[in-house]
Parts: sequence; structure tokens; C-alpha cells
Amino acid sequence: MKGTIEWQIATVTALRDETSEVKTLTLSLPNWTAHRPGQHYDVRLTATDGYSAQRSYSVASEPERTGEIDLTVERIGDGEVSPYLDDTVVVGDRFEVRGPIGGYFVWDRSIDGSLLLVAGGSGVVPLMAMLRHRASAGVGTPAALLYSARTYDQIIYGAELDMLRRSDGLRLTYTLTRAQPPGWKGYARRIDDAMLREVSANLGGEVLAYVCGPTALVEVVADGLERIGLPAERIRTERFGPSGT
Ligand SMILES: Cc1cc2nc3c(=O)[nH]c(=O)nc-3n(C[C@H](O)[C@H](O)[C@H](O)COP(=O)(O)OP(=O)(O)OC[C@H]3O[C@@H](n4cnc5c(N)ncnc54)[C@H](O)[C@@H]3O)c2cc1C
Repeated sequence: MKGTIEWQIATVTALRDETSEVKTLTLSLPNWTAHRPGQHYDVRLTATDGYSAQRSYSVASEPERTGEIDLTVERIGDGEVSPYLDDTVVVGDRFEVRGPIGGYFVWDRSIDGSLLLVAGGSGVVPLMAMLRHRASAGVGTPAALLYSARTYDQIIYGAELDMLRRSDGLRLTYTLTRAQPPGWKGYARRIDDAMLREVSANLGGEVLAYVCGPTALVEVVADGLERIGLPAERIRTERFGPSGT
């Protein structure tokens, strides 16, 4: 891994709005190397006066897409880096990145067992890389995604997830914690043990869980998964930020 983490200059080749607060940036990389789904890149922005800021962003795309990566960035209102990436960057801009980084929160087709993915907000990003890889590599691994968002409009990748549900056997469950559209049939509360039990029932094989999102959600879910009987060594977690929401 160490050999691959030289800084390189990425070029922004496409921008896509995912929600009102979330944008996907496609970056073309001169020294692209295949990542393992779940890994991230560091982004380093340097101002003309030399001041620089560095943050980590998970790769959203699958490693089968060569030469480029997608990063999906949620705008944190008073943040230093995310508002710049979401609001200021235009196609053709260049900035430094290094990666892929991380060897623990990763999944690929070589790993046995079924997949239980639990996301809060933008925590869905590395899990999406896993699902895109699973689909693109044609792997039959049973997979379930439990995705907690505040409102329906804040669901990232909604249309693509729905397609994966229909065509690729993904068990997709949403919980909308703040507001629900009329006629909503999904969950409407914070993730709890009963919900975890329901979404993980009959997944088959040995379950491997990946949990990503705000720290508080990750802790509740990891503890809950242990309480419902999943051994700690089969639960992998990634925390995105200090927010307790
Ligand atoms: C391994 C890893 C992978 C990550 N992948 C992604 C990703 O794919 N997409 C993504 O959008 N973010 C991701 N993050 C979070 C990202 O690195 C930044 O922390 C985030 O974009 C905020 O940076 P900022 O400079 O805008 O805010 P900052 O200037 O760092 O913080 C501004 C304020 O917001 C608070 N804050 C910081 N981060 C968050 C947060 N996530 N939620 C709520 N409040 C926060 C801070 O405490 C502070 O008060 C990842 C983090 C890690 C560690």
C-alpha cells in the first residue's frame, strides 16, 4: 500500500449533483491504481499563499473503471474543504490527491460470506463502491444495505440503488429519521437492534458487516450488531466525522 501513496495531480472531468448537499466529482488520475472498495484518497488543497488543507474522501466508484475515480462529497456548512469541492470546483480544475489508502474497511470479491452494509448519510459512499464492484464483477454474494437518511431527498444514489435492488438482488432498506414522504413504507426511526435483526435475517452464510457514517451512528450500530449475535471480528467500521447526528 505504501508504494502507491505518492501525491499526484488529479483533473476534474465531471461533476454531478447527487442531492442538494452532495456532489460527485470524477477525477482523472495520471497514476491510477485499482483500489479495493472501501478505500479512500486524501485530497490536498493549497492556496496561493501556501496554506494547505487536507481531508480524506472514500472512492465511490468501482475498481473496474480504470484511469479515474469518483469522490462523493457532502457539503458541511462551516467546513473548510467540502464547500470548496462542492461549490467552487469546476471541470478542468486540478488538485493534489494520494491513494488508494486503507486496508481494513475494504471488501472485494475474494472475501467470502454475505454482506451486511449499514450507512448513515454520506457513509454510503464506500459501501456504494462495494456494491458497484459486486455488480460489475458479477459476484453472487448476498448483500443487504440498511441506509439511514434524514429525508427522502437526502438519499444519495437513490436511483442506482433501486436498480441494484431490481437487477442485482440487493436487499435495500431505508430508514428516514426526520421526515417521510406520504405513503412511506420504510422505517421511520433511528437504527435499533430490532431493525438490525430484521435486515440481517436469512442473509445466508457467514455475515460480514460494514458500518459507515457519523461516529454516533457507527457506535450504536456496531454495538447493536454484537448484541444481536454478530461476532466483533465480523464488524468493520469507518467514522466520517465528529457529528453526533
Ligand atoms: C476515511 C474517511 C473517509 C471519508 N470519506 C468521505 C466521503 O466519501 N464523503 C464525505 O463527504 N466525507 C468523507 N469524509 C469526511 C471528510 O474527510 C471531511 O471530514 C468532511 O468533508 C468535512 O471537511 P470540511 O473541511 O468541509 O470540514 P471541517 O473544516 O473539517 O469541519 C467543519 C466543522 O464541521 C464538523 N465536521 C467535520 N466533518 C463532519 C462530518 N462528516 N459531519 C458533520 N460535521 C462534520 C467539524 O467538527 C467542524 O465543526 C471521510 C472521512 C474519513 C476519515
